[in-house]
Amino acid sequence: MMNKKIAIVGAGISGLSAGIYALQAGYSVTIYEKNKMAGGECTGWNRHGFHIDNCIHFLLGCNDSDQINEIWKNLGVLSDDVQLYREPYFYCMEKDGITLHLWRDLERTRKEFLEIAPEDQRELNLFFDCVKNCECIKPPCDISPAHMNLFQFMKMGMSMKQAAKANAEYGKQTMQEFVNRFQNPYVRGMFGNYFNSNFIAITFVTSYAFYTSNSVAIPMGGSVGMIQRMCKRFEELGGTLNLGVQIDKIHIKNNRIISIEADGQIEKDADDYIWCADPRDLFYQLIDVKYIDKNLKYMYDHQDGYVASTGYQAAFGIASDEELELPEGSVIFPCEPYTVANENHDFCGMRVYDYDASLFPKEKRVIQCNVLQNAVNYEYWEKLRSDKKTYDAEKERVAYCLMERLEQQYPVLKGKLVLLNTYSPVTFTSWCRAYKGGYMSFNALKGYKSKYVKSTVKGIDNLFLGSQWVQNSGGLPIAAASGKFAVQQLCKREQQS
Ligand SMILES: Cc1cc2nc3c(=O)[nH]c(=O)nc-3n(C[C@H](O)[C@H](O)[C@H](O)COP(=O)(O)OP(=O)(O)OC[C@H]3O[C@@H](n4cnc5c(N)ncnc54)[C@H](O)[C@@H]3O)c2cc1C
Repeated sequence: MMNKKIAIVGAGISGLSAGIYALQAGYSVTIYEKNKMAGGECTGWNRHGFHIDNCIHFLLGCNDSDQINEIWKNLGVLSDDVQLYREPYFYCMEKDGITLHLWRDLERTRKEFLEIAPEDQRELNLFFDCVKNCECIKPPCDISPAHMNLFQFMKMGMSMKQAAKANAEYGKQTMQEFVNRFQNPYVRGMFGNYFNSNFIAITFVTSYAFYTSNSVAIPMGGSVGMIQRMCKRFEELGGTLNLGVQIDKIHIKNNRIISIEADGQIEKDADDYIWCADPRDLFYQLIDVKYIDKNLKYMYDHQDGYVASTGYQAAFGIASDEELELPEGSVIFPCEPYTVANENHDFCGMRVYDYDASLFPKEKRVIQCNVLQNAVNYEYWEKLRSDKKTYDAEKERVAYCLMERLEQQYPVLKGKLVLLNTYSPVTFTSWCRAYKGGYMSFNALKGYKSKYVKSTVKGIDNLFLGSQWVQNSGGLPIAAASGKFAVQQLCKREQQS
């Protein structure tokens, strides 16, 4: 096995994870990445002397006791040398001079909310108790759920049994239905303007539980630093990173991939292949849909039930080193209405980047705004993009609308904001080939079950699948675990043959 060669497509989190696990299993590994830099969606870039951190709002698995923590340490992402920043809250809402926070300290949040909304006491207490119970929810890290036997699946379920009540309460309810359980306008504003209204409420409850369990933090150095550490680990183990190579053809013979091709160039043959890029391209363009996992196909075929999260974003630099009274982290606030992709919005969501002096020194602080978008909005942006001038103008128009609202909310920002960059859902598709601009994978909507996708590909013996798309919700931990799972299945097949 020692000289067996593996080719991996995609140098995002999943591809680098697969590469590191494969090298550790004794394989020789080459990763092919279409972009000139590794990272995929976990990336950042500089504009006008400011840094834009595209990805990490929170990294799950920052406690030693978290199972995913072991994976992060193995991948070089976390170590004693990497400092962590723990934001005090998930997000807050400022309205009419009142600020509500979802603090890490659950009891502090309970107190704050009950003071504002005593009329919602019953529903609030139920919600906070359910958040506590959801602290046991962790992404699977040992074996892919798609490959678990019944016993293993039940064991995984048992490890999260405390969350059963929360699941019964909120597992079949949309965010809008969840919001309707509350009467107080501040509570409704807080819960109703952060997530998409058609998402299932348990996702929101679980996301907050990641904070209250203290499992999330932001590693200093941000998304780019995290990727650099993974690349370093990969290359120190002897891996080869081939950047700027887009795989556009795959040749199959006798149920095996015999070679892959990029721009007419046959890339060196490998014994096994791991696809860690968007699987839609793989099955619908490069090989044949007949090979697709039935769960994955079901999700693509039921677009009303499985949607990718995406957004329109604008980044602003704060051209001042003055002490400014700005909130920390993620904030939402009501504002004058504005339109994005023909939809009206009356809330603004922003995030202040000032916690990492290596990326955002005082004179280079950044604010990013994110307006959540869906598949319908995606079509809008995609159509608009066919005329680059109109597309750019529209992105800029929205950005200036948002800048105005930021200045109205925080007059200290007046005249200090510099527009750095705007990006729409189609940016993620052109950058990473992400399906419908998705920066997280499928979200199962009301009436649809979460699905797991196998790391093996039926009908092609030497092809394996990674990427965040193998599990609902996606995100960094799912992507990292998917790389490990793909190598696990590859090693298993090796042992069997
Ligand atoms: C704005 C934003 C904020 C986010 N915030 C968070 C967060 O706070 N916490 C969290 O957990 N997650 C977050 N995420 C999600 C996280 O970034 C993703 O889940 C994760 O990075 C996905 O990794 P991946 O390897 O599955 O896919 P990708 O990152 O898409 O990597 C796939 C790679 O394959 C390459 N590729 C595609 N096709 C080919 C081809 N044919 N040939 C060669 N290369 C190819 C792509 O260029 C890409 O580099 C965020 C994402 C975004 C965009």
